[in-house]
Formats: sequence, C-alpha cells, structure tokens
Amino acid sequence: MAVLRIVRYGEDVLRQSTKEVGKISSKIKKLATDMIETMYANNGVGLAAPQVGENYRLFVIDVSEENETPNPLVFVNPKIVKKSAPINSYEGCLSFPGAYTNVRRYANVVVKAKDLKGKPFVLEAEDGSLLAKAIQHETDHLEGILFVDHARNRFETNNELAKHELPSIEDDKLLNEDEMETIIQVVEAKASEAEKQKKLEEEVAKAASTEGQE
Ligand SMILES: [Zn+2]
Repeated sequence: MAVLRIVRYGEDVLRQSTKEVGKISSKIKKLATDMIETMYANNGVGLAAPQVGENYRLFVIDVSEENETPNPLVFVNPKIVKKSAPINSYEGCLSFPGAYTNVRRYANVVVKAKDLKGKPFVLEAEDGSLLAKAIQHETDHLEGILFVDHARNRFETNNELAKHELPSIEDDKLLNEDEMETIIQVVEAKASEAEKQKKLEEEVAKAASTEGQE
C-alpha cells in the first residue's frame, strides 16, 4: 500500500469526467487500497479516484468514529438512484486543504455500486448523516463536480477559499439549485422559530420558579 499525492483544487483532473471500471483488475484493487490508505493518512472520510489523478468511477468512504473499528467502503461504478429532502451541509474536501463551507445536499440517498469483488450492492443513507453527505460529495467528484459548486453563499465561500490560498469559485460551474435553496430556507426558518419558542418557554419557566422562591 502507498499514500498517494492528493490533487489540489485548481488542477484540471478534478474537472474531468471518469470512465466506468470494467474488470476489477489487480491495478484497480491496488488503487482502491492505496486510496483508503491515503484517506486515512489525511484524516478524510472519503476520497474519489480523480483526487489522486485517476479518472475511474471509483471512490472510498469511511465514516467510522476514531474509537470505532475502521470500516472502509469501496464504491465501484456508483450511481445515486434516489435522493430527497434538501438540507444544508457544512463540509470540506481533501483537495481543498483547510477550507469548509455551507453547501446544498440531500438528507436521504440510495446508491447502487459494486464492491471490490465485483459484487453489486445497494446502500441507503438517511437523515443527513455523514454517510449520506459523503456519498453525494464523492459521486460528484466522478462527474467533475466539486462541493463549492453547491455553495449556498458565494461570498462566504470565496472568503473561505481566499483564507486558505485556494482559487475562487468558478462561477460558470455553480449549480442552479434555487428550488433546493428555497426548501432549505423554509426548514431553517421553522427550526429557528422552534428554537425561539423553546427559549421563551424556558425563560417563562425560570421566572415562575424564581417567583416561587421569593
Ligand atoms: Zn472532495
């Protein structure tokens, strides 16, 4: 196994499309195991082949916690077949060292792929879990799409990129996600309203209990 060099934002290979993996050759197996090692060496939760300069439809993910047994998942020729419920996701990418920003994702996805033995599997990830977000992030890499293309606020994202000496958003790559944005904002407004209501109720309860003590 070997730790590979990770391509940085700005390098062309991140924008290129990838080809289907045919036979799962020893070369592909080695690439996948090297990618897992590279992901661990960089404390990442996911890594796609284009990020190590290989234009294959292949990515690896491990969302296990530090105190858990490592659980690397390999996705060969993945395809997201279902997605629902837009949400905000605060994320980064190993090709954007240090930079994090708010992007649009779906809370629930169903992905079909093959494992390294060539066995097909279907995986469902829900509730805006790290796995659900990572599957979308890594699948995007295979289409030459980067997380900043989903940015909710281009000024905030450009500030963050500049802070980490990375190129700005490529405006022509920004995705039109107005419908997703509207849904996310409605959900966020409801959450903040519920939060306010809870605080108010807590204050009333506190005032009542203080009164009782006097
Ligand atoms: Zn990434």
